[in-house]
Amino acid sequence: FPHARTEAQPGRGALAVLGGDLMVRVADGRLLPYANLDIAATAPCAVVAAEAVTRLLPSYASVHRGAGVLSQHCTRAYEQARAAVARFVGCRPGDQVVFTRNSTDALNLLAHVVPASTPVLTFLGEHHANLLPWRQTVHLPLPRTPGEAVAAVDEALRRHGPALVAVTATSNVTGEVWPVAEIARVARWHGARVVVDAAQLAAHGPVSLADLDVDYLVLSGHKLYAPFGAGVLAGRADWMDAARPYLSGGGASRHVGSDGTVQWALGPGRHEAGTPNLVGAVAMAAVCEAVTATGWAALTHHEQQLLERLDAGLATVAGVHRLVLFGPAHPRLGIAAFAVAGLDSAEVARRLADDHGIGVRDGLFCAHPLTRHLLASAPTRLPGTAVRASLGAGTTREQVDRLVAAVARIAAQAP
Ligand code: PLP
Repeated sequence: FPHARTEAQPGRGALAVLGGDLMVRVADGRLLPYANLDIAATAPCAVVAAEAVTRLLPSYASVHRGAGVLSQHCTRAYEQARAAVARFVGCRPGDQVVFTRNSTDALNLLAHVVPASTPVLTFLGEHHANLLPWRQTVHLPLPRTPGEAVAAVDEALRRHGPALVAVTATSNVTGEVWPVAEIARVARWHGARVVVDAAQLAAHGPVSLADLDVDYLVLSGHKLYAPFGAGVLAGRADWMDAARPYLSGGGASRHVGSDGTVQWALGPGRHEAGTPNLVGAVAMAAVCEAVTATGWAALTHHEQQLLERLDAGLATVAGVHRLVLFGPAHPRLGIAAFAVAGLDSAEVARRLADDHGIGVRDGLFCAHPLTRHLLASAPTRLPGTAVRASLGAGTTREQVDRLVAAVARIAAQAP
C-alpha cells in the first residue's frame, strides 16, 4: 500500500511537484516507486501551490463578508488570485475571471448565460464537459484534419449565423492540439464567439484569450498542479452580466427588498454566490504566477522529450495501436491513448497497476464519441475501450521506460 510523503521532487523549474517519492508494493512483493502516468486526469500538487496554502491557513477567515483584519486579508488574497489568473489567461480590458469548481462547472455556467437564440457549435470529439451542457447544440462531425475542422466551422456558421463555437485546445484522448486560432479567425469573420476548453492545454503551455483572439476560456485547478475544487471561466462580461446568476444567494445579490425583489450584482460575484473557495483560488493562482514568471519552456521541453520516447517505445510493441485523429505527425501534448489488440483495456490498466506500480486510466475518457470512433476506425480489431498514459511535471524517463517495458510484457501474452 502506498505511503504518502510530501517531499518535493527536484527540478522542473516552477513546477516541482509533491508525491514523487511514493512507493507501492506490487503483486510479486517488490516495493516500487509509484509511476503516476495519469496526470491528464488530475495533476500532482505543485510545491508552490502547497506553500501558498500553508501560508494562507493561519489567516483563515471569511472572504468579501467581514470587517475584521483577517477577512480583509482573505478578501485581498482572493482578488489577488483573480488578478494572477487573469494575467495567466491573457485577459483583455472588459474580460473577467469567475471562479468555479472546475472546467465542467465553468462550461455549464457559460451554457447558462448564452442567449437563448444563440446556437452552439461543437465537435463530437469534445470531452463531455464541452459537449453536454449546451442547449441549441449543432454537432459537427469529427474532422480528419485540422483544415477540415476549420472548414466545418466556416460552413456551419454560414448556415447558422452568429453562434458560439465551443472547441477544445487539446484533446484529453489524443493529446492533439486543435487549430483554435484558425477557428477563431473564421468565427470573427462571421461575427461568432468562441469558447476554448483549455482544461488540458493550460497545464502544458501558454493559453491566452488575447493571443488566440477568443471570447472565453475555461480551466481546472486540479489539472494545473493545484488542489481540487477550483476552476475558472474567463472572458467577456456582457453575457454574464445580462443573465440571471448561475447560483442564487449571498454574494450574487446587491440588494434584496423587504418584498423579496432582488437586484443582482454585476461582475464576477454575480456568478459566485455563497462563500468562495479561497484556498483553491490561491493555490491555483500560485501556480499561474510561478509559470507566468518562468515561462513554459523547461516543462514543454521535458514533456516533449518524454512523449517522443514514449511514442517510439510503444511503436516497437506488436499489437499496440495508438489513437490519434489528425495523424502521427500532428503536434501533441503529453497524452498517449492506445489499445492492445486482443486484450481488454481494463485488464491492461489493472496489470500495469498491480504488477508494475504504474497508474494509467482506461475506458472512454469522458469523450465517448471520439474514443469509440478512434477504436472502430483502427485497421485491426481492437477492444471497446482504451488505455491512456499522460505525462507532466514530475514524470521521469524511468517511468516512461517502465511503462513501455510493462506494456510489451502484457501485450506479449495477448491470445
Ligand atoms: N475538458 C477537458 C479537455 C478535460 O480533459 C476535462 C477533464 O478531464 C474536462 C474538460 C473537465 O474537467 P473537470 O473534470 O476538472 O471539470
